[in-house]
Amino acid sequence: MKGILILLSAALFLTGCATHQSPTGRGQTLLFSSQEMSQLGDSSFAQIKQQEKISQDKALNAYVHCVADRVTQALPDQSLPWEVVVFESDQVNAFALPGGHIGVYSGLLDVAVNADQLATVIGHEIAHVLANHSNEQVSRAQLTGAGMQLADLALGAGGIADKELYMAALGLGVQVGYILPYGREQESEADVVGVELMAKAGFDPAQSVELWKNMSKAGGEQGPELLSTHPSHGQRIAQLQQMQAKAQPLYQASKLSVKNTCQRPK
Ligand SMILES: [Zn+2]
Repeated sequence: MKGILILLSAALFLTGCATHQSPTGRGQTLLFSSQEMSQLGDSSFAQIKQQEKISQDKALNAYVHCVADRVTQALPDQSLPWEVVVFESDQVNAFALPGGHIGVYSGLLDVAVNADQLATVIGHEIAHVLANHSNEQVSRAQLTGAGMQLADLALGAGGIADKELYMAALGLGVQVGYILPYGREQESEADVVGVELMAKAGFDPAQSVELWKNMSKAGGEQGPELLSTHPSHGQRIAQLQQMQAKAQPLYQASKLSVKNTCQRPK
């Protein structure tokens, strides 16, 4: 009986499903509304801020905000205020969450050695959000075993028809795009969208290639998002080199209007 209930609930959820298209034209299954994803992003980010140590270093914060703000100002949709937080940690990592949140770990700055390289990472992370990658991941988790376990949990607590409860269970179990690793296709898509974004913001896209060379030299210290199931460094560098033909003209055009004034602290 319980099995049937779970199947029924899964079918109910599926009716809300629509096929979307990603920025590079892939078909995507997105089960959650952007409002639901924003809520999930908001609560996940609040949780992460409680868990991690927030950096009070003024110069470091000013630098990271300078770079991140310039990237978000290049977004076509300016309706969302983006929150930027620097975490004090040796992790070579950064992430962005739906709802407009960006987290940068101070350890990243040992590998992303200039503003253009930092913009590469921030552009990549924002691209994951723009392309609905966490929605895709959470939807996938719901459609597979992880979703069923959570459904079971929610059923036990009074019925899965209560979508808010389901969201709460999901939010506790997974921090969107933070613990759930992205797939290779999503990574390569985030590179494509991210490099165009950084170029439009006036950062040199050629530095994206240098960043991944540094990342490859840095080895095993990368955090979950930058490590995850990323393509090999070699593949990624080759793809980024190919993208220069399209990204460089965007950069040259944006240089006329934006000046690179983000100063890395010594
Ligand atoms: Zn990524």
